[in-house]
Amino acid sequence: MTLLELTDVTASYGPVQVLDGVSLTVPDGGAVGILGANGAGKTTTLRAISGAVRVGGSITFDGENIVGLRPEQVAARGIAHVPEGRGTLSDLSVRENLRVGAYLRSDRKQIAEDIDYCLDLFPQLRNRVKSNGSALSGGEQQMLAVARGFMAKPRLLLLDETSLGLAPSTAKNVYEAVGRLRRESGIAMIVVEQNANLAFTLVDSATVLETGRSVLSGTTEELRDRDEIRRAYLGG
Ligand code: ATP
Repeated sequence: MTLLELTDVTASYGPVQVLDGVSLTVPDGGAVGILGANGAGKTTTLRAISGAVRVGGSITFDGENIVGLRPEQVAARGIAHVPEGRGTLSDLSVRENLRVGAYLRSDRKQIAEDIDYCLDLFPQLRNRVKSNGSALSGGEQQMLAVARGFMAKPRLLLLDETSLGLAPSTAKNVYEAVGRLRRESGIAMIVVEQNANLAFTLVDSATVLETGRSVLSGTTEELRDRDEIRRAYLGG
């Protein structure tokens, strides 16, 4: 079943058109990557889905048109956005950040269990559970950002450049944990990632954006077989 469908989505910042026909489909429980050069419109696509920019075209989630909804309305329907740059709250502890992620929920017992699950998924965070966000390393902040997104119990998680600025081994750890989260929770994901090799460990399919337009989509196997994709995104 299709969970999210973008058809010919357009978006502008002021007079500058940044998205010029983005189409992609995320099956329920599926994981889709978005590849593209700097400035191709990957982040804006995620912002279009989460209601942070005005868009044209059509975006349906679970059969409902969500174009024109405000970010909090989109979140309430089950879409959690983990933005580039992490966005964790530096004055709050790890545990408090996780509680903030669950702010739309009222199932207190399940929230406590889910916090424990996050600390199991990212054991480094368990050791830092009382530390302020500002005291965490870059990798720990990124783990917290993903865990906070999960705490909303979304049906779709939008992950923007989760590996940015992390050492390769830390990035690999974070992606392994996200892979486990995907397997165990069944949450669908859209993964924007400069490091396509890393993204391909997680996603089933991907779409390539060029100057705000979808130019190619396929399963990871199909994309790996294409020379231009290997050269541009997979390091040969
Ligand atoms: P990157 O990998 O560099 O983050 P991206 O593919 O995610 O790239 P976007 O961040 O979506 O690309 O940006 C697409 C275009 O929109 C770029 O040309 C960028 O300069 C421009 N842009 C992004 N945010 C704004 C903004 N708030 N105001 C004006 N222009 C913007």
